[in-house]
Amino acid sequence: MTLNQLFAKVALAQGKKLSGGITCNGLRIQLRHAPGKMPELLVTGDVTLTIKVFDLTTTGVPKLHSLIAATQSNIANKLRGETMEYDRYLSNYDTKANKFNKNTQALYNVRYRINYIVKLEKISRLSQLSGNDFVLAVVDRIGFKTDNLNTSGLTDGKGGPATVVYNDWCKYPNISTHEFFHTLGLGHIKGTSSKKSLMGEVAGTHNNAVSLNELFIMNKYLMANLVDMSNGQYASPTLNTAENLRKFLNNPTNGFKYNKAKFR
Ligand SMILES: [Zn+2]
Repeated sequence: MTLNQLFAKVALAQGKKLSGGITCNGLRIQLRHAPGKMPELLVTGDVTLTIKVFDLTTTGVPKLHSLIAATQSNIANKLRGETMEYDRYLSNYDTKANKFNKNTQALYNVRYRINYIVKLEKISRLSQLSGNDFVLAVVDRIGFKTDNLNTSGLTDGKGGPATVVYNDWCKYPNISTHEFFHTLGLGHIKGTSSKKSLMGEVAGTHNNAVSLNELFIMNKYLMANLVDMSNGQYASPTLNTAENLRKFLNNPTNGFKYNKAKFR
């Protein structure tokens, strides 16, 4: 049993809601094995993604509620769809026991048919942020410049933390989806397709397209712990979110302007 599974079991026993960026209650696995072909695992079930939206602005945020609602449904829409991962090394799937046997390994093609339930939860205190949460911090300004332009959002690579400037989120509603998708492992799209792409570098109001390959990359990140996720209550491992957000906000290169009094 991993430490996370242990935490999950304890949380369940205490009747508490599972906390974390990625949680689920046992994914279903079906093994399909046609003669002469690579065995295929079909993975189905609900996975809940929780993103804590941390209001760190000094100004009021009158539109935050509607921005959160729109971003929540945009993220869920973009994550909809089946993807296939070829040649994944996994624990051997035991069809009799209906679970993975961690003592042996095998190669599989894995077909993901996941229903992602996306929740953006507004928080106003650091104590509401767990180590394994995803976070989107809403700030006044980001001083860091890309190609001489002020940055509207900045994310610290895979797992986050992600940040967004409130006024820019109001102007470009898809920005926070863009930042969260950096958290899920996507980079920028350059060249001609970037104008329509959600992951184009320059913010716009209409660029919102996500390719099948991008969906594949995000699924791969979200399903990294497939074996544990198939085995009852699951919460993602820690990302040291609170600590990493503190470091990110305090890094002078990023030039964040935010309400320091709210960050405690
Ligand atoms: Zn970006």
